[in-house]
Amino acid sequence: MLKPKGFSTKVIHTPFVREDANRALHQPIYSNAAFDFESAEQMELAFQGRIPVHAYSRISNPTVENLEARIREITGALNVTAVSSGMAAISNVILLLSSAGSNIVVSRHLFGNTFVFFESTIRDFGIEARFCDLTNLQEVDSLMDDKTVALFVETITNPQLEIADLEALAKVAHARNVPLVSDSTLTPFHVFQAGSWGVDIDVVSSTKALSGGATSIGGLIIDYGKFDWSKSAKLAPLARKFGPMAFHYKLRREVFRNLGACLSPFAAYLQSLGLETLEVRFTRAVENCRELSDFLAQLPQVKHVNYPGREDSPYHALSTKQFGDFPGAMLTFDLASREACFNFINRLHVIRRATNIYDNKSLIIHPASTIYCDFDPEKRASIRVSDTTLRLSPGIENAEDLKADILQAFA
Ligand SMILES: *Cc1c(COP(=O)(O)O)cnc(C)c1O
Repeated sequence: MLKPKGFSTKVIHTPFVREDANRALHQPIYSNAAFDFESAEQMELAFQGRIPVHAYSRISNPTVENLEARIREITGALNVTAVSSGMAAISNVILLLSSAGSNIVVSRHLFGNTFVFFESTIRDFGIEARFCDLTNLQEVDSLMDDKTVALFVETITNPQLEIADLEALAKVAHARNVPLVSDSTLTPFHVFQAGSWGVDIDVVSSTKALSGGATSIGGLIIDYGKFDWSKSAKLAPLARKFGPMAFHYKLRREVFRNLGACLSPFAAYLQSLGLETLEVRFTRAVENCRELSDFLAQLPQVKHVNYPGREDSPYHALSTKQFGDFPGAMLTFDLASREACFNFINRLHVIRRATNIYDNKSLIIHPASTIYCDFDPEKRASIRVSDTTLRLSPGIENAEDLKADILQAFA
């Protein structure tokens, strides 16, 4: 049989996990809580996990399962679990790997909520986050010890747009028997195959590029099945029984089930649709981002443009190595002052003032006064969030209209 190679072909034609009774071409939305059983014996087998059927939609659901199957198909991962948000993906993974007394080595440059999750939420349970400069491999290595349960990085940090050298970081982590966990939200699957670069567990906010234009909140936990869990103190007993399936077993039969952050079937349906157009949409967004980065750079009001796709970015070479022609679809730029930033965004018409990224619509935000408003100025400086910086996530509109909007806002 002809095996499709292209990303979009594969996604669109991933077979359903079970054939649909009506041969529907889109997966139906199973919006039910529970499933019926023929017998007590079947029920027992289902609860033991010995037959692949659904019992209760918090634990598994056919619509969600089909989305997971599509992600497995395009990533080549061993296991995929869809969850209710990107933050749910992060919290499930970190809580699964940690115990009181564990530590996690983590980049200092992180999505705002992720930063606070590491700095505060888990600290209250005796889990320590050790913040590092991920471009300094020696520092990353020196922060690890026998209580380190993960090295956590974002493939492109937001909003600094710093790029992790994943092969190098994987080497450092694996030498210490620590799994590398990445958040690859900014580099969707057709751009970046995290599993081929040494990432063991990948988390994604499917709210962003995947959802088809900010249609719904969702997250993914992608387990490439490469890490030897017998090297993890917490998972070693399970690894003896289940080998590479140890992480998945712990997740599905305990942590995910008990934290209850399941993806709704309706959101799974929307995200599955979004996935079908991901390549087309993201390619256009990257084109727009590239064009706007060059356009902004030649305007007198713009002091500096930061985009890994530009040759003046310190991460240009690494970006090209890891992400090819797709250096993310988000840029930042600096104006003369905070006031200039506010004036500019207040005058925009096409580009919207909103906190999301990777929507079909172009979105702009002043990170210092919004996402990082709870941080004092010193802390903002330490994570390189400046008062003069704007973050722009270009959508898939026509570039000429975006340029015209920028020009009239500066006029
Ligand atoms: C948005 C985002 C998250 C959080 O995802 P939600 O779906 O909003 O919970 C995590 N990491 C990155 C890089 C993000 O952009």
